[in-house]
Amino acid sequence: MSFIIGKSCVGCLDTACVNVCPVDCINGPIVVDGLASEVANMSEEEKEGLQLYIDPSICILCGACVPECPVDAIYSSEQMAIDLNDEESVHKNYEFYGLKFN
Ligand code: SF4
Repeated sequence: MSFIIGKSCVGCLDTACVNVCPVDCINGPIVVDGLASEVANMSEEEKEGLQLYIDPSICILCGACVPECPVDAIYSSEQMAIDLNDEESVHKNYEFYGLKFN
């Protein structure tokens, strides 16, 4: 089980969540282990369609990221995302890290 970054992150890329994660498991939108450092150099246009991702194999379910997100994009479980009609984001988080959700 893992926390999941949902579709509300698309185009936002705030990165406050990255700074509080105690196990450094939030990355993207491009570099898989870059801790979102590439975001600082992106224009608003370049952010369009992109989002951050939580590594499900590392997340310790601490919840520290949730209150940091300005757009409430973080689900506390895969099931929560699915229940809120955002299963696509579950797969996107897993697939960004070369994993498969099933
Ligand atoms: Fe990181 Fe904790 Fe959020 Fe998981 S729940 S992504 S470990 S801050």
